[in-house]
Amino acid sequence: MQEIANSQLKDTQVVHWKKAFRDLVVITQKRPTRNKRSIIATYLDVFDDIRKLFAEKAKQQGFSFLASDFSFNSGKGRCPNCQGLGIVESNQLFFENVELTCPVCHGSRYKDEILKVKIDDYSIADVLELSIKEAISFFGNHSLNHYSLSLLTKTNLDYISLGQGTDNLSGGEMQRLRLASTISKQKGNKHLFILDEPTTGMHKIDVFHFMELIQKLIEDGNTFFFIEHNLDVIRQADYIVELGPSGGDEGGKIVYSGDIASFVKLNTKTSAYL
Ligand SMILES: [Zn+2]
Repeated sequence: MQEIANSQLKDTQVVHWKKAFRDLVVITQKRPTRNKRSIIATYLDVFDDIRKLFAEKAKQQGFSFLASDFSFNSGKGRCPNCQGLGIVESNQLFFENVELTCPVCHGSRYKDEILKVKIDDYSIADVLELSIKEAISFFGNHSLNHYSLSLLTKTNLDYISLGQGTDNLSGGEMQRLRLASTISKQKGNKHLFILDEPTTGMHKIDVFHFMELIQKLIEDGNTFFFIEHNLDVIRQADYIVELGPSGGDEGGKIVYSGDIASFVKLNTKTSAYL
């Protein structure tokens, strides 16, 4: 009997859940992997579309390049001297290795012949140098999907370029990029996001821009559930649950749950600082 009751309860919760939210998206504390070959355009999955567009235009212009030739990670179009990295390491006997601009492609990552293919006067290397803001109008002119790029403008990251390596971003910039990438993959709005301490290691200004994006996504109809210690984040919550009264074995009890207006009048470990 107890089992039946439980399964009925489960079903009820599932139905209710589906009505309230389209999807559940959990963003853990795991830091995104970075490598020298990961750039903003690949991280946001827009590079495939750019390469396809270049292959189409190449055909019209009488070249026989494939979309894969416009990749700097493999294929026939990348610079053979730096293998598409645009930089080479110079080995110095008594000093640390120094990274230098590749003397063959001069940092463009590509062979000269592939750079002859142009769209609106831009080669593939020129497109990778476009800032996010510039890239949005370029994408718009060629009917490419630029939703993920527009999310970056909402989080004040539109100054970075499409070809910027993700290994050069600060921790805060990387978290904003990760959120934009995760969200751009969801269809529509009405999602429930659970974020586990997303602001860890962020500077105050990064937290500010990160929360700006969150607020805009809330206006679009999404819901966010934060597990956080950061007071700048807690201050913006509509509903707060404080666990305590202390950490470790002395924690785990609900000290407060309710709106922020009543919370700030209390004197709990957290509310005292708000
Ligand atoms: Zn090179």
